[in-house]
Amino acid sequence: MLSDAPLSKSRYLRWLQCPLRLYLDVHHRELATPPSSSAQARFDVGHRIGELARARYPGGVLVTEGPHEHAAAVERTRRLMADGARDIFEAAFTHDRVKVRVDVLHRLDDGGWELVEVKSTSRFDETKHLPDVGIQAYVLLGAGVAVRRVSLMHLDKRYVWPGGPYDPYAVLASTDVTRPALDYARTVGSHVAEMLAVLESAQPPAVEPIDARCLTPYECEFHAYCTRGIEPEDFGEVVPVVDPSAVRRLRDLRFPLLFVDFETVNPALPLFPGTSPFEPIKVQWSLHRLDADGTLSHAEWLVEDAKCDPQPEFLATLLDALGTEGTLVHYSPFELTHLADLAVRLPALRERLLAAVPGLYRTVAAKLAEVGSTPPEPPPARGLATFDLGREAVRRGVAHPALAKTWSIKAALPVLAPHLPPYSSLAIPDGDAAMLAVTEMLDAATPNDRRAELREALLRYCEQDTLAMVEIYRALVGSA
Ligand code: SF4
Repeated sequence: MLSDAPLSKSRYLRWLQCPLRLYLDVHHRELATPPSSSAQARFDVGHRIGELARARYPGGVLVTEGPHEHAAAVERTRRLMADGARDIFEAAFTHDRVKVRVDVLHRLDDGGWELVEVKSTSRFDETKHLPDVGIQAYVLLGAGVAVRRVSLMHLDKRYVWPGGPYDPYAVLASTDVTRPALDYARTVGSHVAEMLAVLESAQPPAVEPIDARCLTPYECEFHAYCTRGIEPEDFGEVVPVVDPSAVRRLRDLRFPLLFVDFETVNPALPLFPGTSPFEPIKVQWSLHRLDADGTLSHAEWLVEDAKCDPQPEFLATLLDALGTEGTLVHYSPFELTHLADLAVRLPALRERLLAAVPGLYRTVAAKLAEVGSTPPEPPPARGLATFDLGREAVRRGVAHPALAKTWSIKAALPVLAPHLPPYSSLAIPDGDAAMLAVTEMLDAATPNDRRAELREALLRYCEQDTLAMVEIYRALVGSA
């Protein structure tokens, strides 16, 4: 038996992605996978950003009734509006069997209302956000609210955090999306009947097989259920075929070979004073050095605390460890892109970085010109050569079905260096988990023993990346 208002904003967004997702959400919620720790962390950040947004409306009143008290929340919202409240948080409305809660409902001077949706994002993304604000506008207009403005409040990437409490007026910006939201609202009514038909059906809706829509714009919580019984492809004993020209290129590299990998974080709310929302901050490097005689050594660096921007120390320690002889081997353009960014950001280390990696010069000069700075003199041609092991050797040089769609290091490792432990055996198995671990490690409230545990896990994760590169290099060189 469906309730009087079985539809909500989140159910509408689920239906848009896939009718089966809506059906399962209503009838078989128990089949959903609980949110991952990174998804939970994103919710938590979203909650903090919501609190910051409310701080911009002093005197605002929160409708405290929860999701299961929707009728009471609607009634309380109605009374607050009638009694002259200027700003209402979590304002509740129902129309056409759809219920919504509005992050902030703000009374305008002309007597109309502004609907404010708060998102932990840096800009209005039409695919994700238009249906979100559009259905809210549809319900409010249908409920008789004079919606005159619709805004998306989000983080402002231009804000440089000086440290201390975040300034809600500076860290957040507002984008006026009134026109597209009201246009969209006019299209929602025709969808409601379709959604109700899905819910009232005795059978789940037939949908196309699993495809990209299951992961975009949001990862579906029923993905594990819908893919049950589908085994990952097993390539058995298929042997990779290596192109001899890739092997020749690898053999021509100048020793020592310096295998590097960086880890970055790009938190919505800056972690380090002097940085901005979503700015990628380099927090860790790992370096394996392979000499011509086969000697292998390892060096590493990981941020210690969040007192200041760690990137000057990141770069200075890396340059000390790299030296200026040999070849910097990376697995994708990621490392060189970040080095070029650092050359622009850190003028005190620019000359030294360009002397060490002269191949960065043209990119750095172009970036400096873009921001109106004078590029430095070209560095001497000596210094480190660079080589992209992933693109130049694995993608172009290795044929294997497991690498047909991706040539990532995590896909290449079991094919080319199966003797190394898999990433899944590490305490930190992927980049998402690494970002979470860095955030937790830098949190002053984290106990020391937990911090030490996270630090060790992060070091081993980044070390695995560069060791995997060494082993992939050795496997390819030894293959012909
Ligand atoms: S996993 Fe894909 S097919 Fe299954 S409910 Fe989710 S979106 Fe629909």
